[in-house]
Amino acid sequence: MAPPGSFETATVTVKLDDLNPEQRAAVLAPDGPILILAGAGSGKTRVLSYRIAHILAERKASPAEVLAVTFTNKAANEMRQRVASLVGGDNDARIPWVSTFHSACARILRQEGHALGYDRNFSILDEGDSLATIRQVLGDAALADSPPLELARARIEQAKNEAVTPDEMLARAKPGRDASIAQIYRLYQERMRAMNAMDFSDLQLQTWLLFERFPETLERWQRRAAHLLVDEYQDTNRVQYLIVRALAARSGNLCVVGDEDQSIYGWRGADIRNILDFERDYPAAQIFKLEQNYRSTKTILAAAGAVIRNNTERKVKNLWTENSAGEPVTYFTGRDERDEADFIALEIARLTGVGGFRAADVVVFYRVNAQSRAIEEALVRRRIPYYIVGGVRFYEQRDVKDLLAYLRVIANPADAVSLERMVGTPPRGIGAKSFEAIAELAARERIPAFEAMGRLETCSRVALRIAKQAGMLYSWMHDLGARAPDLSVRGIVEEVVAHSGFEAYLDTLDDAPARKQNLAEMLSAASAFDAEKSGGGLPEFLERVALVSDTEQIDSSGGRAALMTLHTSKGLEYPIVFMAGMEEGLFPHSRAAEIDEEVEEERRLCYVGMTRAQQLLYLTNTLSRELYGVRQESRQSRFLREVDPALIRRIAPARETPPIRPLSPREPYVDFADSQLPDDEPGPGGDGLSIGARVIHPTFGRGIVRRREGRGDGAKAWVNFERGGIKLLVLKFANLRLLGD
Ligand code: ATP
Ligand code: MG
Repeated sequence: MAPPGSFETATVTVKLDDLNPEQRAAVLAPDGPILILAGAGSGKTRVLSYRIAHILAERKASPAEVLAVTFTNKAANEMRQRVASLVGGDNDARIPWVSTFHSACARILRQEGHALGYDRNFSILDEGDSLATIRQVLGDAALADSPPLELARARIEQAKNEAVTPDEMLARAKPGRDASIAQIYRLYQERMRAMNAMDFSDLQLQTWLLFERFPETLERWQRRAAHLLVDEYQDTNRVQYLIVRALAARSGNLCVVGDEDQSIYGWRGADIRNILDFERDYPAAQIFKLEQNYRSTKTILAAAGAVIRNNTERKVKNLWTENSAGEPVTYFTGRDERDEADFIALEIARLTGVGGFRAADVVVFYRVNAQSRAIEEALVRRRIPYYIVGGVRFYEQRDVKDLLAYLRVIANPADAVSLERMVGTPPRGIGAKSFEAIAELAARERIPAFEAMGRLETCSRVALRIAKQAGMLYSWMHDLGARAPDLSVRGIVEEVVAHSGFEAYLDTLDDAPARKQNLAEMLSAASAFDAEKSGGGLPEFLERVALVSDTEQIDSSGGRAALMTLHTSKGLEYPIVFMAGMEEGLFPHSRAAEIDEEVEEERRLCYVGMTRAQQLLYLTNTLSRELYGVRQESRQSRFLREVDPALIRRIAPARETPPIRPLSPREPYVDFADSQLPDDEPGPGGDGLSIGARVIHPTFGRGIVRRREGRGDGAKAWVNFERGGIKLLVLKFANLRLLGD
């Protein structure tokens, strides 16, 4: 084995004394397939960073021959910084390619997609746009056995994750609904190609198809990834597995790290077998086990270990730590979710007050987004600063999406979804009818919809005034498109803001200042992008925007406690962790209740959550919980019962809580992701709460009404809150106040 300590080359020094012997062995292991299989907090991610630095220092490869794949952009950035600090200096040329699967695929497809019929400026559709496109396809196809929209979307995504093409799906489909889904899948792919667009899962599927069909292209990228390293390998799905296998086939230098106990994305197609079968796939694999945990106290580790021990589909690991025993795990049962939330808020207040912790040291995990509301209310009452990871993202906000639609069309005039979005904002008379005329003209003349917009004057169905408007819009955007390669991204955004009439339109609105802030934010994002050395043009900027992930919102310096679902917690660590809702039916989720394999996945999720904690772990639940408008008795989660009572300090339910100001009436509500929200359409708005109305809520603050439903006492509205995302509120109880439009 290589000697401990540091080694040196002419250019860089990598210190290895802050690694333990097993970690060091994994870092120094010779080329070839390597599996690092180890428990939570044992330094897997750390070893990966050091190994990259070592490969570069030893000159086994140049930075242009190394690719490291991580699960999130945040992890990618951290690893890039880690490697930069290890190899010294901020010389970009020394930093290897560290990327998420999606970003890596997008980059490959920009360069190679033409082989599959895509232009390098292809658009990346977000979930909302992709759902809208499937909806259109479903409507146009009008199949006898038409599947519901959500089912079609889910099955198409599943197929892509499993590397199944439309033809393959069709060949396997039973007649009836299955065959219809396969047909919809095919039509959807055709429409996307006509728009020169891909959705998220396409990025991976198309990359795989490219590699499968064009061996010489594959070879080029095999050289670019002559050393391939993959973090969180337990959560790769089939198509990712195939891409990794293809890229590593030539060099054999594949280093994967993972922990089968932390596989939590089965519902998104992740296949735990990928890691369990690594030794079978690569018989020559060198295997390393890391057993020392550096993150958590002995107690936390023992509690997490006691839970995961109940799973059968795993390799037994012996995880230990030199850290202190620490405090017992605190277990609190509230009378209801308000009581639970108030305990959490009170504890955080205590810990950040006399306890000497910062709010940013705290994270609260929950199983479903709907749980966050009670917790938010409690934190607001106690004046504890917090933020939600995974709420509505900046780039998903309405004005921002509208502006992005212009940029997308300029980069990719075939993008009909974005075209439809932008022609109507700001309102300039080109409404749904006119867009229909554009689409018809495009279909008849077999030209892109954008071109058709420029020729609307030839269409008798549209008023001349509107056709002229459309013609002017076309000329300007066409011209800007031609100049775009010579402009900075900021320059393009500035021109769009000014020339599209978007800014002038916002100026006519009461809430102009708030909404114009978003425009300003876009301009700063564009400037920041221009300032980067590796930069790129408009297509690269749009790609960056499209692939921003939830975890990029994580901000550990901001002095605020973080709230997020357990699924977002991967790879993170916090001094203090709360896990709320430890109840049967919620966690493990009722969806999983009867199927052993799914309960095992829930248990892994529990293990991931518990092992994020460094010093203090709190598990909480209720005697009775109202969720999705229904109140039910709660039963203690089986995961709690699996922990040795000796590790737990129980806090009794009947605990006295200090008086707090009365709450507004509790309203049943549901949380939605933006993509799940139906399209805006005018609803009954006699009370002034029409679509687009700006409102204020006692707890969630400002928001915009996105859609309405029902009448009278049953009237509900989806409201997109600046803080906390989209919630479905029963208006009778919601206490919404209109802010005027
Ligand atoms: P997870 O399974 O949650 O992804 P991991 O195995 O990737 O965890 P890391 O995040 O790499 O673990 O490391 C966990 C923590 O332990 C980090 O704070 C890391 O800096 C620290 N750590 C790892 N190895 C050592 C070591 N040899 N000495 C000191 N600290 C270490
Ligand atoms: Mg890790």
